[in-house]
Amino acid sequence: MSEYDYDLFVIGGGSGGVRAGRLVASMGKRVAIAEEYRFGGTCVIRGCVPKKLFVYASQFPEHFEDAAGYGWTVGETTFDWKTLIANKDREITRLEGLYRGGLERAGADIIESRAVLVDKHTVRIVAQDRTVTARHILIATGGRPSEHPALPGSEHAISSNEAFHLETLPKSIVIAGGGYIAVEFANIFHGLGVETTLVYRGKEILGRFDMDMRRGLHAAMEAKGMRIVLHTIAHEIEKQPDGRLAIKLSNDETIVTDQLMLAIGRTPNTESLGLEAAGVEMGPKGEIIVDAFSRTNVESIYAIGDVTDRVQLTPVAIHEAMCFVDTVYRDKPNSPDHDAIATAVFSQPEIGTVGLSEDDAAKRYDELEIYRAEFRPMRHTLSGRQEKMIMKLVVDAGSRRVVGAHILGVDAGEMAQLLGIAVKAKLTKDDFDQTMAVHPTAAEELVTMYHPSYRVKNGERVG
Ligand code: NDP
Repeated sequence: MSEYDYDLFVIGGGSGGVRAGRLVASMGKRVAIAEEYRFGGTCVIRGCVPKKLFVYASQFPEHFEDAAGYGWTVGETTFDWKTLIANKDREITRLEGLYRGGLERAGADIIESRAVLVDKHTVRIVAQDRTVTARHILIATGGRPSEHPALPGSEHAISSNEAFHLETLPKSIVIAGGGYIAVEFANIFHGLGVETTLVYRGKEILGRFDMDMRRGLHAAMEAKGMRIVLHTIAHEIEKQPDGRLAIKLSNDETIVTDQLMLAIGRTPNTESLGLEAAGVEMGPKGEIIVDAFSRTNVESIYAIGDVTDRVQLTPVAIHEAMCFVDTVYRDKPNSPDHDAIATAVFSQPEIGTVGLSEDDAAKRYDELEIYRAEFRPMRHTLSGRQEKMIMKLVVDAGSRRVVGAHILGVDAGEMAQLLGIAVKAKLTKDDFDQTMAVHPTAAEELVTMYHPSYRVKNGERVG
């Protein structure tokens, strides 16, 4: 008989925690997983999945418009927010059931409660007021939208959490932030007919992306009718007698709007988790500090996913979970590889990207070849839509390796997944050149850009 109640206790039923719990339980180990809200975590319940459903909903007005060039007459259209919310909620409930079902079938004990650490092997199950012990504890509690207490009136703002359950669709919205969430929701709300303003403190939206993607998307969003205000922050928010919000900006402008959404990053969920009691080290944002194998400074406690603030993406949390299982339960130490992660911004048009931006590559390599194409995709020829696609390959001239691939346009996210394999496999531009095109597609441009558009030498653009 083991000295512990469980081999593994997982705190947090999101993508990372569920994957680890399910795999370890299916190996015949005794596993418990505690979740205080709903299984599925941010991604399924109030993140990637409902967001993508909203993105689809918001694309229909453009589809209706584009149909005319192809001979269709679309009658009067109307949109019902409550129907979208109800259908979205039904799908989320279905997915939550799949997550729970997978855990149950694997034999994990599902605990619907907050769980907090008591010491390095003991967890208190708050709702049941009892403690259990485990050989290993895995913390996968994720993160939450960052609040902004220094901003007067910020209690009137919503975050992405509330955006998924608004009673009514606002007529106008201001979104503060310039990252993934701000940009994606600006496009969603605009697509659904909401007058949308994005307020960002930096010089261009989407700080971590290639500048061509950032500028290209900015231009496309403005062309659609979104307003983007750069170098600006909100100073103060006042609720007016009619319920609307007056937002004073640092550029001396005041915008009166129905809703303000803050999308200014996410904070790791480590508060009141008993980490101090167990002696687990945290960083300045409250993130749990882990080594390459996701182990904390306490031998029995590991952490994966957003709570470690490494790369805040669902597939990364899942990958970290699988590496944890290899390391601890399969005797195959495996550390997650955070290099060259393909990712997408589900804006309209989308951005799909993998590897280094031109600017980051220029800091790392002496000479780059940049292959760049900007064109109107075929589907927009008859629709008359002026929107352009941008494709860009960043090549290390020395090794010929493609070190970055960036796409702005329809289905860029889908393309990024496949390009991710090529960049991860360290393929060269010659491999791209020897690949036959799939015709007619937009993606064929990626294998038919034979001559560099320009070079970058020692950080300077030449030729
Ligand atoms: P991001 O880190 O992407 O962006 C945060 C934004 O908020 C930045 O533009 C930042 O500005 C700005 N900001 C931060 N603090 C302040 C402040 N005090 N005042 C004004 N602006 C501020 O975070 P998000 O919230 O957009 O998303 C969180 C994470 O979720 C992302 O990092 C991403 O990994 C993940 N995610 C992924 C998605 C996907 O894969 N499609 C979709 C949605 C989220 P600055 O740039 O100047 O620091």
